Parts: sequence; C-alpha cells; structure tokens
Amino acid sequence: MNSKNALPKLEVHMIPCLEDNYGYLVHDSDSGFTASVDTPEVEPILRALDEKGWALSHILNTHHHFDHAGGNLELKEKTDCIIIGARKDADRIPGIDIQMGDGDIYLFGKHEMTILETPGHTRGHLSYYFADSDIAFVGDTLFALGCGRLFEGTPEMMWESLQKLLQLPDKTLIYCAHEYTASNAAFALTVEPDNGDLRTRNAEIAKLRARNKPTIPTTIGLERRTNPFLRPDSANIRATVGLRSATDTEVFAEVRTRKDRF
Ligand SMILES: [Zn+2]
Repeated sequence: MNSKNALPKLEVHMIPCLEDNYGYLVHDSDSGFTASVDTPEVEPILRALDEKGWALSHILNTHHHFDHAGGNLELKEKTDCIIIGARKDADRIPGIDIQMGDGDIYLFGKHEMTILETPGHTRGHLSYYFADSDIAFVGDTLFALGCGRLFEGTPEMMWESLQKLLQLPDKTLIYCAHEYTASNAAFALTVEPDNGDLRTRNAEIAKLRARNKPTIPTTIGLERRTNPFLRPDSANIRATVGLRSATDTEVFAEVRTRKDRF
C-alpha cells in the first residue's frame, strides 16, 4: 500500500539492566515485530514488554557475553522468539536460530536491518543498523566517548570496526550497551584537553548523570567530534600521547592502552 518511504520509523525503548547495562526493545508498529537487543536481564525486559503491550518476536545479539546473551534461553522459552546472532560465534550464542555475517540484510517487517561485523571486543561482535530509522545498536564496540575493551581482538581489528561505524551518516542515533559515559569523558579530557566540543559535552554529561539520566543515545556526528577513540588524527591527541608521526592504528592502540590503565 504505502511506499517504503512512508514506513513509520522504528520505536526504541531503553531498559536499564544490571549495574550499568542498557537493554533495548525495538518495535515496528507496521508489522508488530518487537526485538530485544541483547538480553542482559529477563525480568526488566518482560516487564517492559508488558507495559508497552508488545510481544517479543526477535532477539538481536551483539555478542556472547553473559550480560548480553544471558537471558536468551529463558526469553525464547517464554515468548518463542527468533534469536539472531553472529555466524562466527554461533557456538557461543545460546539458542541462536539465524546466523548473520557482515553486510547481510534481514527484513524486520519492511525495515531493512543491515548487519555490520564489528569485532575487537569479541571476535564475533555484530552491530545492527536500520538505515530508514537512522538507528544503530553497537553493543560493546562503540560507547559514548569510549570503545569496548579488547578481550578477543587486536587494536587493528577494533580500529577497522570503528571506521565501519564512522561510515554511517552523522545523524545516526547510536545505542550502546553500557552507561560508561561520565568516566569515559574524564579519560577523554586527559588525552584531548584542547577539544572545545568535548569540554562542552563533558559539562552536559555531568548534568545528566547528576539527575541519574541516561546519556544515550549519542550520534555518529557527536562521537566523530569528541570521542578520542575515533580521533587518532587529532593533533592534540597525537601530542598528548607523544606519537606525532605514527599511523592512526598506532595512535588508536596507544589511546586504548592508556584507557585500560586509567
Ligand atoms: Zn561484552
């Protein structure tokens, strides 16, 4: 009936879970589909579904860690939903039904969902991008002012993943899986103290957190201007870490190492 352009945008509902995780429900009013992006904790997800009057149709797993896939089997048993996850990590995603890899497209109702492999934090990490709604779920790859720890990957691998996300339009809303923004901001200021956008953002973050408000979603544009892990070409960062003529990958790796020690 309607052309694709007339599709209503997807609705995203944030669910604080555990210590500092965010789960998300993505709802398509057109098809009635509802996906849970990761399953950090079953009870709050079921409560949110109930409050919204939504029925769970899918789980979209970003990676295998327990605070992302720990609720898979219980939710699948209770809702009969379909679990989507990384082909490369199929043996570590509980209950996986559909295995996805880089560039795959899945139709969520009439919404195209593009799969981006973004390894580094884990070797089979996926990000989910819905172009028509300008939203991306990036798990533990990209955080507001941060990036995931390199548990299974190399700096080269993570830098490549982050560059993939940098190719998304600036307006893309980024939903990451943890509220780490205040401590990320404190670190960011140590490596790029002269970034005026970062200083402004740091003040805004402090205000939000003082009222216990989430700092998520962020956008690709804002991260591009302020996130030190996306800015290895910054002269200020290069001067701070003493790598004026190194490659971007080398600067990224040094910033990541410094954050691990921060
Ligand atoms: Zn993780």
